Amino acid sequence: MMDTMVLKFGGSSVADNEKLKLVADKIIKIKNKKYNIVVVVSAQGKTTDKLISEAKELSNEVKDREMDALLSIGEQITTAKLSILLNEMGYKAISLTGWQAGIYTDNTNQNATIKHINLSRINKELEEGKIVIIAGFQGINENMDVTTLGRGGSDTTAVALSAALNAKKCYIFSDVDGIYTTDPNKYNNVKKLPELSYEEMHEMSSEGAKVLHNRCIEIGEKFKIPIIAESTFNDNSGTVISDIIEENTIKSIVKSETSRISIIGNGIIRNVKAIKNLINIIEREKLEMLELLILENKIVITFKAVVDNRIVDRIQEELINVS
Ligand code: ADP
Ligand code: ASP
Ligand code: MG
Repeated sequence: MMDTMVLKFGGSSVADNEKLKLVADKIIKIKNKKYNIVVVVSAQGKTTDKLISEAKELSNEVKDREMDALLSIGEQITTAKLSILLNEMGYKAISLTGWQAGIYTDNTNQNATIKHINLSRINKELEEGKIVIIAGFQGINENMDVTTLGRGGSDTTAVALSAALNAKKCYIFSDVDGIYTTDPNKYNNVKKLPELSYEEMHEMSSEGAKVLHNRCIEIGEKFKIPIIAESTFNDNSGTVISDIIEENTIKSIVKSETSRISIIGNGIIRNVKAIKNLINIIEREKLEMLELLILENKIVITFKAVVDNRIVDRIQEELINVS
């Protein structure tokens, strides 16, 4: 039995036909290394945002059930297009909706939790040598109604499928070639992190770094699935999120709301030098704090007023780039 790889491609990676071709090339390269391939895709580009605003133009009180019925279509369009393309390129592929793929959730429309996955259809297609392309972010509840998993939920579909299929790894491909110390699209002097613990990634996501869906990290940790964040558009080595034992460098900064900054790293509570440096920056910049929380793996500061992005750059230079 060949090993299975799960590959997830986010909205910006599948935005148009040109990008779908790059995605198909990436899939084929991995398939040719003799793996069973399960692909999870998001809706193309800004499709989900567009569908939400179109629904809200029709009604101020869109029922969650109907919103899910609408939004799930976004992901399905991508599965069908990618399957059409791969078949055209001479590879056997099949598109499956969340429910065809046996993804069962609870009844919480708009924020459903995956309860179990019935693998019979996926396994049947894999045994026939097909690349199985599954719509992310969606499932079906006990009433056979479509549900969605919350914004960014395709990551969770991918890691949950990896767990169910006993996959070796779960690749999350996006427009960034890994997880950086802070959002590379917003800040300067950022560094790519070759590895992160589940705990650190979980802290980053819960503090508001919108790069991976929070719940996918919990599933990865529970089932010990290494999650690899890489770019769809190049072959640079990315970030591996897995178990890391005993490591205590400061990893990242998240500025979630305008007045809240979190600094994340295993065992940061014992890093006296970093804590002193941080206090120095705050004094030097004459910033007024409302609350300072120093926990095992993160420091969270809430300031009295809006904090400039420049402060994040400063913390990055004095705490991360020197450690
Ligand atoms: P996808 O549409 O593929 O799911 P997302 O937009 O959800 O991709 O996540 C990728 C984005 O996450 C990047 O474009 C980047 O701006 C943002 N991001 C936020 N924080 C980080 C970080 N620390 N490292 C890398 N990317 C980050
Ligand atoms: N399409 C959904 C969203 O935009 C799910 C996802 O992209 O993961 O939130
Ligand atoms: Mg995402």
